[in-house]
Formats: sequence, structure tokens, C-alpha cells
Amino acid sequence: MVGAGNIAGPAWDLTSEYPDAESAEVAADLTRLDELTAAIEGHNETLMEFLPVAPSVEPDCAAIGVAQQIYRLSEEASRLLGDLGNYANCRVSVDSTDESALRLQGLLQRRRSRYGDALSPLEQFLDRVDDRVVEAYLEDDAASSARFQVLHRRKRRHELLSLEEERLAGALAEDGIHAWGRLYSQLSGTLRCRVEVAGAQREMGIAAASGLTLRVDDGVRESAWRSINAAWESQIETCAAALNAIAGWRLELCRRRSIRRDVHFLDSPVHANRIDRETLDTLMSVAREAVPLAQRVALAQARAYGKARIGPWDGRAPAPRVVEGPGIAFDEAIAQIREAYDSVRPEMGDFVAMMAERRWIEGTVSDHKRPGAYCTRFMKSKTPRVYTTYTGGMSDVITLAHELGHAFHGWVMRDLPDAQQTYGMSIAETASTFGESVVRDALLDAATDDAARFHILWEDCSALPTFVLNIPTRFEFEQKFYDLREERPQRPSEMKALMSNAWEAWYGDCLSEPDPMFWASKLHFYISGTSFYNFPYLFGYLFSLGVHAQRERLGADFYDAYVALLRDTGRMTAEELAQKHLGADLTKPDFWRASVASMHSKVEQFEALAAQLF
Ligand SMILES: [Zn+2]
Repeated sequence: MVGAGNIAGPAWDLTSEYPDAESAEVAADLTRLDELTAAIEGHNETLMEFLPVAPSVEPDCAAIGVAQQIYRLSEEASRLLGDLGNYANCRVSVDSTDESALRLQGLLQRRRSRYGDALSPLEQFLDRVDDRVVEAYLEDDAASSARFQVLHRRKRRHELLSLEEERLAGALAEDGIHAWGRLYSQLSGTLRCRVEVAGAQREMGIAAASGLTLRVDDGVRESAWRSINAAWESQIETCAAALNAIAGWRLELCRRRSIRRDVHFLDSPVHANRIDRETLDTLMSVAREAVPLAQRVALAQARAYGKARIGPWDGRAPAPRVVEGPGIAFDEAIAQIREAYDSVRPEMGDFVAMMAERRWIEGTVSDHKRPGAYCTRFMKSKTPRVYTTYTGGMSDVITLAHELGHAFHGWVMRDLPDAQQTYGMSIAETASTFGESVVRDALLDAATDDAARFHILWEDCSALPTFVLNIPTRFEFEQKFYDLREERPQRPSEMKALMSNAWEAWYGDCLSEPDPMFWASKLHFYISGTSFYNFPYLFGYLFSLGVHAQRERLGADFYDAYVALLRDTGRMTAEELAQKHLGADLTKPDFWRASVASMHSKVEQFEALAAQLF
């Protein structure tokens, strides 16, 4: 017997990190952080003297020792800044009115930007010196742990402008490109729209309306989508100005950075994801091949909703006619995930049990909590935390499995130097998606009726239209928009046409109508710090399917290979990682094709069930 009161999870324990946001321990770490930053600034005075002559310094130059000193100080400072920020964020997530945690966040804001400024001379120095000097710098034990980062950064050193120009561009960006990004988030936070829910018109913000696109009622989803688009239509000139300015800013910088060789607008996102341009091109061409399979899923989904085609409001539609049971209690969810993880290797199951026993998972339900889920970790204690609001639905179990996958990734890396524990976005979702698939497969095996099987397969297969149709639609729009923007700013009507063409190119006949306003309604196009915030999702999805496929192929040897792969994610490019641990060449289509093929039988089952049940 499970009472409703027993469904939600327990509160997490953060006291192992700090007793409170205003404790003496927090104050001591803030003081220490200030001392470290001041010490780096002190060393910068020496390092800055060498910056203008960096290209000609010799490997025995005194600046190298100074640079190594700065690196050592930065290791401790980054840890403190990260832990304090995480602690405040964890507290605010659970209670958005937590005054002392909000004050701590405020105290960290200025410190974070001061610290960022303090580190930039070291980055500049390491980018500007020649290879021999870098090797001399990397001879130091501490500094050498960041070898991959230093050398990876240097791959773009041909783009460097003069020191003064770099500083000017950086300083102007705050009220330039980033201001356009901020304008967009302000707009999306204040825009209102009217949605028809159960026959009544209700006024609400964009975020609330987009929450309605998760509803099982087709009419509500469509009404929400139409209202959101009408709201954005009222701001169409502003959005077009913002997007033209963001792209124009980047293109201008590319032009100016093309002194030594041509700099393309895709160079920066590709580099940030630690992949090659060739890999991106192959990935997109395999996505193109996978379109028929993804469209079959979309058509089966349409059938389940009793229509011939899906609408642009159906991207996040839940499985229809799902009768949710009384809910899965938190402890039961942990037991299910533990058992599924256990089937990979008992160590993975034990990890789940430990996360629950040590109360490293937040699962309570409260009005003050921030929505969503995440995984974070504290670098001083080397311990992970998982944040969720656990309400007992199947999607909550999958979310928990996802975040525990992230936590496991961090856990197997915890003894590595800090610099080797951060990875690119392209492979960031490997362990989480793997954790999800393992649990979903176990649930599918355990499902006792077709309705339950259909529900699980819906969640599983809907990833195909999302990643193989929607993400490439975004990518194609953005790429073509940048190409056209080279010539001149695009008018809103042109942007709508470009967007509609991209929808039609990828969705084809399975879509009832395109979404011409998607370039305005999708936040991702306006993230001023990162361009092309789309293809990494596709990469991550197909990459993790490839890892999952290894489980069957390697059998008992899989676990060790999996952990070895995860441990290398912070010190290799994605291509090196795949070559070493999966024997795969990411620049060639085979690996990606195998990932797509691994979904075939699930899509067949899904289609059969859709035909049988609806
Ligand atoms: Zn994730």
C-alpha cells in the first residue's frame, strides 16, 4: 500500500558542504577566494609585461614560472568559486525565497567577473607564445593536468587579434551582442498571450503557455502554440533586429579574425564541442538518411492522436490515453533504477543505492521549488547531488535515471585533476542518456500490458523526431540565415520563409503545417554566448545510442570499457574518444548509421502497437 504522502522523495543533505549560507565556513571560503584572486592579480602585473612580446619569448623566460604559479592558484580558486556558487544555487532551487542564499549569489556575482578578468592574461599568454614555450609551461605537474585544454584552445590561435582589439571586442560585447540576448530574455519573460483552455480564454506568460504544449489535449496544445506565435508576431521587428545583430556581430568578428586564414561561423561552435567540422558534416548527412525512420515515428504518433499528420505543436506531446496509476513511490523508483543499473554491473546499482542512502538526491515537492532537474557536484568534497521534484510519474523515474547517469559520470572521474573533469557539450549527455535507456529497457521488459509498453516506447521513440527532424530544422535555418546575413540583414518575412522551408525539408509530408515563427519563439537562437546551440543535441543522442549498442556487443567487458570512456571525456576530442574506446571513426558515417539502426526494431514495435491500440 502506497499512500499519496509517501510518493515524494526526501530532501537532500547539503550540510556536508556548508552548515548555512551565512556560516563562518562560507565567509572563510569567500575570504580565501579574494586572497587567491588578489594573488593572481599580483602575478598578472609581471605576466602582462610579457604579453606584447609573447610570440618571441624563449622557453627559459621568467614569465613561464609566473604562468605556472597563476595556474596553481586558479585551481583552488575555481574550486571555491564553483562550490560556493553550487551551494547557493542548490539552496535557491529548493526555496526561491531563501534570502541568505540569494545574498550569497549576489556576493559571488562580482567575484566571478573579477576572477574571469584575472585569468584572461594567462589564457592570452598561452595562446600567443610558440609551441616550445607551451611545452616548457606544461612541464609543471599542476599545469600539465590541463594539457588538453591548453592545446585545444591553441587550435584557434590563428584567430587572435591584437591584444587591444581583443580587449575592446570583449568589453563592447557586454552592451553589444550580449545586450541583444538579454533583450530577448526580457521580452520572453514579459510577453503575455491568451490561450483557450477548456472553453475559456486564459491570459498567461509565454513559459506557462509553453507548459501547456505538454498536455494530452490536442486542442490545448494547438491553442497554446498559436497564442505563443501571435505574441511573438507582435514583436517580430524586435526579434528580427536582435537575431540580425547577433549574427552580424559574429560574422564581423569572423571577418576580422580571418587574417591568417579564413574563419567560418561554424569554426567556433565546432571547436567548443571538441569535434571536427568533418564530423559535423557526416552527422548531418546521416541525420538526412534517418529522416524516413523518424517520420514513421511522427506518423504513428499522429495516428495515436487520431489524425493524419502531426502539427508543429506536437513536439512534446505525451502519449495519449495513458492512464497513470497511483504513482511510483520514490523508494520504489530508486529500487527500479538500482536494479536496471545493476544489470549493467553491480557497481552501478550500488552507486544508485549510495546516492539515496547518503541523501544526495533532492526529491521533495513544494511550491517554492524551481522547476526542472539537474545534477551538480562539489569539487572540494568530490560528491555529486541530484535535484528533482519527484511526483511519482513515469517521466519522473526517467528523469531520475537521467540525472543519476550524470552523477555516475562525475563519480567515476572524481579522482582526476579538476581540469580533466569538464567536457564538451557534445558528449555531456552520454552517461545520462545511457542511464535513461538502461532503465527504459528494464521497464519495457517488465511491462505487463500493451498500453504500458506503448507508453514507454512513445517516450523512447519520440526522441527520433526530436533529434533527427527538429534539431536539423534548427541547424539548417541557422546555417542558411548566416549565409544570407553575410550579404545583408534579413527581413522578418524572409526569415519566416527560410524557417518554413527548413521545416518542410525535414518533416516533409508528416507535418500539417510549418512553424514560420520558430526563429522568434526558440530561445536557443538568442543565446549570445554560444551559436548553433542545436547540433550538439543530435550528436549527443546518436553518440549515446552508439555507446548503448556496445553493451550488447561487448557483454561482460562493457562496464570497464564504459568507465574508461567516461574517464577520458575531459581530456580528449570526441573523435579521439570514439577511436580509442569504441574503435569508431566519427568522421565516417558507419558509427552514426549503426546508432540509427539500433532504433529500427523499437520503431517497428511502436508502429505495430499504435496500429493495434488506435
Ligand atoms: Zn542531461
